[in-house]
Amino acid sequence: MRRLPVPGHDLVGIRADNPGPFTLAGTNSWIVGRTPAWVVDPGPARSEHVEALVSEIDQRGGLGGIALTHDHVDHSEAVPVLQSRFPGTPLAAARSEVDVRLEESSVFGPLEAVSTPGHAPDHLAFITGTAALTGDAVLGEGSVFIWPGPGALASYLAALTELRARELTVICPGHGPLVRDPAAKLDEYIAHRLERERRLIAALDAGRRGVDEILEEVWSDAPAALRPAAAVTLAAHLDKLADEGRLPDGVERPPVAL
Ligand SMILES: [Zn+2]
Repeated sequence: MRRLPVPGHDLVGIRADNPGPFTLAGTNSWIVGRTPAWVVDPGPARSEHVEALVSEIDQRGGLGGIALTHDHVDHSEAVPVLQSRFPGTPLAAARSEVDVRLEESSVFGPLEAVSTPGHAPDHLAFITGTAALTGDAVLGEGSVFIWPGPGALASYLAALTELRARELTVICPGHGPLVRDPAAKLDEYIAHRLERERRLIAALDAGRRGVDEILEEVWSDAPAALRPAAAVTLAAHLDKLADEGRLPDGVERPPVAL
């Protein structure tokens, strides 16, 4: 359990103790404002974590609503227990059974939704003041996997570019530390994806067609634990090249499962 204060902003992160290759040091839940406070991504349903959220919310004068950046379990599992502690609290997200369905530009309390598909098709980032709560669209360190779907990677790049155009002073990610230089981080993310694509095209130009040989060459830096995620992201990259008419024949498509 760790508190992540955000100097200059009336918001605080509470990090859950669920470390792992995808969650880094743990999931960051964010609590925004006061009387009432608003929660973005309650995180895993671990009692220590939930109690820390409840205590912070109580100090901030109650809970106005719960918003999800996306419905992956490491971000959403604590929703029911938090709602049971604050009965009647509305849940807002871009899909599934929610009280408030969000989309691009929706406003929920102090949060403005920005559609950021890529890691998940329902993914949103939230802007509050000059802070962006980015869930798994942008992490505090490392990169994210992209879930293939129609236009997933192109939409993701467009979303990063839209965030880059905002006046931001801090990124509060779903995992990892605060990002103090949002412009530099977003530039890094965009450059990272384009560099992967450049390496992928080079591998295809060199005649690579099998998943393993492509991963070996293009994701040589990915640790073994992240290979399945790299394979999923490879599928998204292949889809983008196919959409653009740039995918050669005979390329093996990785099975998409994690
Ligand atoms: Zn996550």
